[in-house]
Amino acid sequence: MTEPLHDELHDELHDALRAIVGPSHLLLDPAAMAPYLADWRGRYTGRAHAVVLPANAAEVARVVAACAAARVPIVPQGGRTGLVLGSVPDTSGLAIVLTLRRLDRIRHIDAANRTMTVEAGCILADIEQAAAQAGMLFPLSLAAEGSCTIGGNLSTNAGGTAVLRYGNARELCLGLEVVTAQGQVWDGLRALRKDNTGYALRELFIGAEGTLGVITAAVLKLYPQPKASLTALVALASPQAALDLLGLVQERCGAALTGFELMSDYCLRLVAAQFPALPTPFAVHHPQYALLELSSPESQDHACGLIESAIGAALEAGIALDAVLASSNSQSLGLWKLREHIPLAQAAAGKNIKHDISLPVSRIPAFIDQTGAALQAAFPGCQLVCFGHLGDGNLHFNVAPPPGAGHEAFLIHQQAVNRIVHDNVAAFHGSISAEHGVGALKRDELVRYKSAVELDMMRAIKAALDPLGIMNPGKIL
Ligand code: FAD
Repeated sequence: MTEPLHDELHDELHDALRAIVGPSHLLLDPAAMAPYLADWRGRYTGRAHAVVLPANAAEVARVVAACAAARVPIVPQGGRTGLVLGSVPDTSGLAIVLTLRRLDRIRHIDAANRTMTVEAGCILADIEQAAAQAGMLFPLSLAAEGSCTIGGNLSTNAGGTAVLRYGNARELCLGLEVVTAQGQVWDGLRALRKDNTGYALRELFIGAEGTLGVITAAVLKLYPQPKASLTALVALASPQAALDLLGLVQERCGAALTGFELMSDYCLRLVAAQFPALPTPFAVHHPQYALLELSSPESQDHACGLIESAIGAALEAGIALDAVLASSNSQSLGLWKLREHIPLAQAAAGKNIKHDISLPVSRIPAFIDQTGAALQAAFPGCQLVCFGHLGDGNLHFNVAPPPGAGHEAFLIHQQAVNRIVHDNVAAFHGSISAEHGVGALKRDELVRYKSAVELDMMRAIKAALDPLGIMNPGKIL
């Protein structure tokens, strides 16, 4: 492992950074830096020679310019909830971590334009709350919303549970303010729904995972608050039945359907084993479950009418086996808790091999069948922890060891398991990263599955915007 460089050059850079952000916002002490260096899952810790906490875009720009002059790599960091090692430095100790957490102001809400302008370090839950206080909805919603930042959400093009209706973070953003790799501030904070003035630069920085520049603020789209929302859990015989149910509900409920999650019985058994206090709504087990979220611009009765008629039709057609409708807010939260506790139950049960994939929705049942069979053939008895945002074609397709086998020991098969899953994803024309991004974790997989033409274009963009290669090196490419 390389020792961090405390040579003259770094002392000079630290002096410059201290002058920009103030002494209390430049961390050099290992104990003070430690929380910024560890991955959220606690599986990896990187090293840095400084952690810098600027207060505004002007300070970010000066920090980046100083690092560019010293040729020092920068790792932008938001809430550090990313799952692909994007926001933590490598172990060389050569980089600085640039955390955006002090850029936490909601700058402006324009109710008539249905937009809000926020700084990159705003916590997602605070943005949702500010929108609600203004009588509107900011619909990005994910289990990490109490810790993740909008800068991180945009940099990873986060998905979550309402993509079906409102789209990913990309679709929710109209404008950006970015500090370029040269330390200039690009004011692209346009609140326009139509703007065809050349290349869509905003799109480059969204999903770039901090490899092209630093997002310091964004203009976000707001929506009317639904008058009512309703949650239902439907028991099903198979993923094909889930797909049939999705089609039926979309036909009958249209845009009122905001979320459609798939969970296998194995997932709910995991949750029950690890969190026995969470009530399971059905007396008997069924192979699959779909969790549906419906919103109505009219009333609770309207939402109820829509969902009851759709589920009634599904039961009659033999698509659904059973169903429960949440009749109160707390029941609805209870159903969502089952879904949200799956990753926690997995973590409590032991390590497993994770995949965040997307596929054309129509091909999901065949993918699950074929990939499940290939995994069983290679690793008899292995357990599939398959759940996710079926409505968006996004599955968390995780593989746990056979019952009784050691979780740590099973991890030696990671490469072979990845190969089976990702080769099948490619064969079904899917993506090996649906919503978590590439980071350092999936960089080699990206090279394996993207075409040379696509990789060349990506490398050309990187070289054009970050010619010194200082922006989050080793991530994505
Ligand atoms: P970080 O982890 O700090 O950073 C993520 C990446 O963005 C890094 O590459 C970093 O360098 C870069 N970055 C951060 N801020 C900036 C900036 N201002 N400018 C430039 N680059 C920047 N993700 C989903 O999409 N959907 C889910 O449903 C979902 N559920 C989750 C549930 C849990 C319990 C957890 C822990 C994570 C989940 N995630 C999910 C993953 C994670 O929450 C998202 O990737 C989130 O968008 C990351 O935001 P962050 O602020 O924590 O970013």
